[in-house]
Amino acid sequence: MSVNVLFAALPERWETYKIPLKTAFSEQGVDANLSMDLPADQVDYIIYAPNSELQDFTPFSRARAVLNLWAGVEDVVGNDTLRIPLARMVDDGLTQGMVEWVTGHALRHHLGMDRHILGQDGVWRKVIPPLASDRPVTLLGLGELGQACALALAGLDFPVTGWSRTTKSVEGITCLSGDEGLRKALSSAEILILLLPLTGETENIINAETLALMPPGAMIINPGRGPLIDDHALLAALETGQIGHATLDVFRQEPLPPEHPFWAHEKVTVTPHIASETRPITSARVIAENVRRGEAGEPFLYLVDRNLGY
Ligand code: NDP
Repeated sequence: MSVNVLFAALPERWETYKIPLKTAFSEQGVDANLSMDLPADQVDYIIYAPNSELQDFTPFSRARAVLNLWAGVEDVVGNDTLRIPLARMVDDGLTQGMVEWVTGHALRHHLGMDRHILGQDGVWRKVIPPLASDRPVTLLGLGELGQACALALAGLDFPVTGWSRTTKSVEGITCLSGDEGLRKALSSAEILILLLPLTGETENIINAETLALMPPGAMIINPGRGPLIDDHALLAALETGQIGHATLDVFRQEPLPPEHPFWAHEKVTVTPHIASETRPITSARVIAENVRRGEAGEPFLYLVDRNLGY
């Protein structure tokens, strides 16, 4: 029997996803009728990206799950019309992309690369950076992405501390949780990487008080979500030198408005929400696997806890 799968995302996404999805469903042995346009009451599964027009899930009377295309679910998790399971995206390609982006920016800061890239002016700036083993790095968020980045950085010999809601045990990583754990994690963070989801609990977690806990001149790298940081507090901390540099990939408003002070700030690097993307081939496999599970009566992978918000 075939299942009707609605692709509720922007049309340009459909162009890149339709062949990988067809291939992945066929590999899973699922006969899927995939379309961007299906009568709501005949849809069995919804592949969803929050920037699609779909906001009201009520008419999807027989749908069994919403399969989010992105890792972050803050735009859909609180939707009152959504009463069926919501799965988020965990995708090898997305994880690998994040590891590359985070590692690259961490190494840039660690090695002081800007000094030489921006300083081609005849001045011999002979500053020897410490070894990675003398540069403590902290990650807030030790989930799919945070753990992969933590392990990659530990593999380069950085002493890595990770902080999460529940205490983790990851070989080679100092794992902390709770308020006291946060204070400890921040107090050693010469490089701080934010890979938390945006929830009521994590919004503004980086604020004047928590910034003051960090070692003077620390670097912040935020590929998580913009509202994790209180922007005004960050600008103030950059002004005093408490924070040496911030590399920001995500913002409260995206695209970041041209007049925003981050753009022109010499201690801020803005990247346009490109830290990592869901990759069509690998993510299509995850979606097809979840539909197969749904049809076989097996538990879905990567279900979102609606109470926790991630
Ligand atoms: P996961 O859900 O796998 O991990 C989230 C982590 O955050 C977990 O370790 C979780 O703790 C921790 N956490 C959640 N709430 C709290 C809290 N209140 N206090 C302490 N720790 C908390 O998510 P992913 O790793 O897959 O993704 C993380 C985020 O990265 C996404 O939500 C998204 O916002 C962002 N992202 C950004 C991209 C970009 O291109 N810029 C691309 C993809 C994702 P616990 O382990 O105990 O549950």
